[in-house]
Amino acid sequence: MSEKLAEVKEKYFGEQVPTKRKFFHFICVGAPIFSFMATMANVISGTVRGDNSSTGFWACLLCTVICFAIYPISKHFKNFDLFICLMALGLNMLVFPLLYFTVGGIDSSMSIFFVIGIVFSALLLDNRKTAFAVVVTSFIWYAVIMFIDYKYFISERFSVLDRRMEFVDTFLDFFIVSSCIAVLVKILAVNFERQQVKTDKLLVQMEDLSVKDPLTGAYNRRFLIRYLDSSMKSASDDSKNIAIVMFDIDKFKRINDDYGHLVGDEVIKALSNVLMSSCRDYDIVSRYGGEEFLLVLPGATEEIAYNRANQIREKFGSMKISSEIDRPVTISGGVAELTSSMKTPDDFIKIADDNLYKAKETGRNRIISQNFNSAE
Ligand code: GH3
Ligand code: MG
Ligand code: MG
Repeated sequence: MSEKLAEVKEKYFGEQVPTKRKFFHFICVGAPIFSFMATMANVISGTVRGDNSSTGFWACLLCTVICFAIYPISKHFKNFDLFICLMALGLNMLVFPLLYFTVGGIDSSMSIFFVIGIVFSALLLDNRKTAFAVVVTSFIWYAVIMFIDYKYFISERFSVLDRRMEFVDTFLDFFIVSSCIAVLVKILAVNFERQQVKTDKLLVQMEDLSVKDPLTGAYNRRFLIRYLDSSMKSASDDSKNIAIVMFDIDKFKRINDDYGHLVGDEVIKALSNVLMSSCRDYDIVSRYGGEEFLLVLPGATEEIAYNRANQIREKFGSMKISSEIDRPVTISGGVAELTSSMKTPDDFIKIADDNLYKAKETGRNRIISQNFNSAE
């Protein structure tokens, strides 16, 4: 039973249901229940008083029937907005005013139902112009009703409640209206919070996607250039060191040819992992090209970068990457340290690239910088 209830709750009030639909479903459940309660209250109060005035009973019953029919009819015609519009007008123009006259007018709590009618109409109608028209028309209509009552004492003549029953009626109405408002605010708050959490998650994902390479999780080239540009500017202001290392896998085409692209991808990921695990928090690992990675070491001198690059080269060269690869996979690297003559990231990267080229030229599996060379 509780499972079935949870299923129904999920279907009509679950996360996937748009907020407006939730309000609509809430009305479809709440309105018939509350209006039926009002009908019964009329029967009971009539019996207690021994009076056979039936205006209140019929008004409430009409309200129950209208409310009960909302869901099946709107489902049948599949026109949610038109139906909400008719329902709002029906309740605001006919049922609520009728109840107002029969339960004691301004002395009764019926006028607070006018507020509910206006609030729900505005919330449920998608079209702004329609919502505005329904709200304004209802408001004017309520004003007219109150004015007529003030002028011609209609509610005094037609009221089916005596003074004692008005207390019960006001209490019940207070309960109904405050529950409606509480549920309404709760739905809004919960939805808002859910949306906020979803939006925050999406934003983090989007930010990640826009700056990271999907295969390795390393920063992409776009991010690298932006990062280098800004750190080069601040480094020249504070005269701080920055060093970079450009790595490239040796004879990588042959790995792809001999073992296939998927194994090739594994090798690229393995290099990225080695780079990331050898990094401090503020170092940047970026995938510069296919199997080329650029490591940025803020605060590092050429010598520090050279030593670190060599450790990485040794670590990667001695790794068993995949059971399918039966020979060592090596990398070469070119180091560059920022100097005042380098004005753009391209100037900086070019030096690292030239040194990488020299490493390739002189036999691979080595790191080269301006002043150091690790030939093995
Ligand atoms: P060298 O030692 O001179 O660097 O020789 P190499 O064969 O590694 O030459 P190069 O660096 O020019 O080779 C790059 C190859 O990397 C070419 C391309 O097929 C391959 N490649 C580029 N991106 C990817 C990728 O995302 N996955 C795989 N599996 N291969 C890639
Ligand atoms: Mg290569
Ligand atoms: Mg390459």
